Amino acid sequence: MAAVQRLFRAAASGGAARRGMTSLAPEQAPSAAAAAAGFPFAAEERMRRRPAAERNVQWVFLGCPGVGKGTYASRLSRLLGVPHIATGDLVRDELASTGSLAVQLAEIVNQGKLVSDEIIFNLLSKRLKKGEDQGESGFILDGFPRTVKQAEILDGVTDIDMVVNLKLREDVLVEKCLGRRICSQCGKNFNLACIDVTGENGLPPIYMAPLLPPNNCMSKLITRADDTEEVVRNRLQIYNDMSQPVEDFYRKQGKLLEFNLPGGIPESWPKLLHILNLEDQEEMKLATA
Ligand code: ADP
Repeated sequence: MAAVQRLFRAAASGGAARRGMTSLAPEQAPSAAAAAAGFPFAAEERMRRRPAAERNVQWVFLGCPGVGKGTYASRLSRLLGVPHIATGDLVRDELASTGSLAVQLAEIVNQGKLVSDEIIFNLLSKRLKKGEDQGESGFILDGFPRTVKQAEILDGVTDIDMVVNLKLREDVLVEKCLGRRICSQCGKNFNLACIDVTGENGLPPIYMAPLLPPNNCMSKLITRADDTEEVVRNRLQIYNDMSQPVEDFYRKQGKLLEFNLPGGIPESWPKLLHILNLEDQEEMKLATA
């Protein structure tokens, strides 16, 4: 409970304006949905909602493990000048620390299970507070919300403008997760899998070139402990059970933008920009150079 309150405190008043988060008018009650989720809303923690024109974008990226949420969310965050906040990264940062929470988290995460709302809100709250101190505005959330309850709570404290739902067939998702590698030194993500599946049962063929690391990262590659086949399948199952209802939640609100990935980054990135009505000036410069 206290953790959730901290999130609201961090997002409230002056900080909300700078970060682009929205807030409730003082006389407005918090959303019934959020209240129904069982979280207390102290009056001083209510937030005033700001019109979208006065702040940066507040988007959510949804999609199964391995779909590439992180890749596309971080590219868009650079393009739009908003922070990319991935709750999975916050969890992994905590896991890498020596705190007592790390031991508790390792067991849950390594089985592919979801960590408790209280822990997630606590980590998110700390991340938002840090951003607030650095004058961040707006956000692209990745990996959050992952349950309807989390979506309801988020709805109770801020406005989400748009939810991008990335989609890819399940056999490809598993292959992609198993091919994921991280450089233990620079922290960049790579993928050794070369996806080349033929079209069948009405599904189009998909080709995704591997995302290979430069030579200096090659010997330092590590695999996430939760990227084993058994755990990946468990995470996909949990996603289907817990997170697909989140898609329905946002679909009903008319905020869901579905995007079927047509292939790897070279094929998907321009198409994603096109449906979002955006242009990547850097890429255009490179293309015409
Ligand atoms: P994925 O590749 O499954 O999308 P993430 O990097 O987003 O993985 O998350 C890694 C792990 O962190 C999840 O399996 C889960 O244990 C935990 N986690 C991340 N975000 C949340 C959340 N919003 N709620 C609960 N647990 C989460």
